[in-house]
Amino acid sequence: MENVDYRPSALVPCSIDVMTSFQAPRGTTDILPDDQRDRLAVQRVCANLAEKFGYAPILTPTFEDSDLFLRTTGESTDIVQKETYTFDDRGGHSLTLRPEGTPGVCRAYLERGLHNTPQPVRLYYIMPMYRFERPQAGRFREFWQFGVEALGDSDPAIDAEVIELAWRVLESFGMTDVTLLVNSIGDAESRPAYLDALRDYFAPHADSLSPDDQRRLRENTLRVLDSKDEEVQPLLPDAPKSIDYLSDESKEHWNSLLQSLDALGIRYEIDHTLVRGLDYYTRTVFEFVPPDARRQSTILAGGRYDGLIEELGGQPTPGIGFAMGIERVVAEAKKRGTLTSPDRRTTVLVAHIGDAAKASGLRLASELRRAGIAAVLGPPRGLRSQLRYATSIDATHAVIIGDDEIANDTVVLRDLSQGEQSEMSRGSLLELLG
Ligand code: ATP
Ligand code: MG
Repeated sequence: MENVDYRPSALVPCSIDVMTSFQAPRGTTDILPDDQRDRLAVQRVCANLAEKFGYAPILTPTFEDSDLFLRTTGESTDIVQKETYTFDDRGGHSLTLRPEGTPGVCRAYLERGLHNTPQPVRLYYIMPMYRFERPQAGRFREFWQFGVEALGDSDPAIDAEVIELAWRVLESFGMTDVTLLVNSIGDAESRPAYLDALRDYFAPHADSLSPDDQRRLRENTLRVLDSKDEEVQPLLPDAPKSIDYLSDESKEHWNSLLQSLDALGIRYEIDHTLVRGLDYYTRTVFEFVPPDARRQSTILAGGRYDGLIEELGGQPTPGIGFAMGIERVVAEAKKRGTLTSPDRRTTVLVAHIGDAAKASGLRLASELRRAGIAAVLGPPRGLRSQLRYATSIDATHAVIIGDDEIANDTVVLRDLSQGEQSEMSRGSLLELLG
């Protein structure tokens, strides 16, 4: 009987091998072990580099008061208008699943008194985000972001630092062919004149624009530059450029940033159409895009938001950050073959023949783990089935215990990749594997 494979897939044709009528919600996915290992590898690199730059980890709630996102992400943005998961909880409070990390981190900065500690405060997060989008390659309804925020410092050196951190992360996955796009969208002082110039420029073409772009033109003029609609594209090259409208202070900030990037050897392209929609976004904006896709599949985007903390009720406080899509980086890194999986760890399956051996195996598995070796007790089946199981869980070794081994106080160790086996005392086993 031992050779019969009882897995449902072996007994019934694949197409009707469906044990449940439930499916993961559209735009979400199950991340199975191989994928999750890749993702954790990416997350480890992000966390290690962030720590190296002096950023400390933070985690904020998955949902927040809906008003937080109206105030920060912005009522007139696509995210808030079309993409949020918003619901009333059983207490009648309107909550929203976090579509991005910055609002929660800034709220925590104020609510938890981080603004009273020595500035700047450097934070990073790795958290899932939720947006009701049309699912497609690299675009999901639940996705993860690695992001950083540096709060309380307006020096352009910190803009360069944040961009360098982003660059080092991508570089470590061999993504040195990505393009860094940068722009400065100025400050509160220079913004009105620039918006006037943009409105004047687009006004004669307003009728030919899509309804979405007409709305952007009225409510969130900067965002027209960001539009992906075909009608707008030919108008963009001649549109007024924000860097021609910078105040003296913003111009100085911009020049200093570019000098720092040059000094760090970080290549960039100035993109005059790169923007953030809202008033509290100021000065530096940047994105990293892969070579073939330009702005359609941005991997990482960030910028300065000097007005945001004040918008949340805090003292005027500068801030800058970025967010990187984990799925998009994993996909790019896989394409390039630059994901290094950690060396295969020694994992032992403790196989047992008979009740006494099983009890002995239970203790041996525990001993192995305490000695730092991963160990799994074989399932209560025949030896061959246990060894098949060892292969399916990627075990490197099997330890076999039967009545003889108990009598002699030994075990049989089988190296599953070599197929060799030998008998030894428990003490030698621990020494050999440890
Ligand atoms: P896009 O233009 O692709 O919609 P965005 O401007 O909405 O991007 P941001 O809000 O700046 O994106 O988010 C930063 C990063 O998060 C993006 O560059 C991307 O890598 C990732 N990202 C954004 N939305 C999604 C999504 N729906 N699925 C997967 N990753 C996403
Ligand atoms: Mg989007």
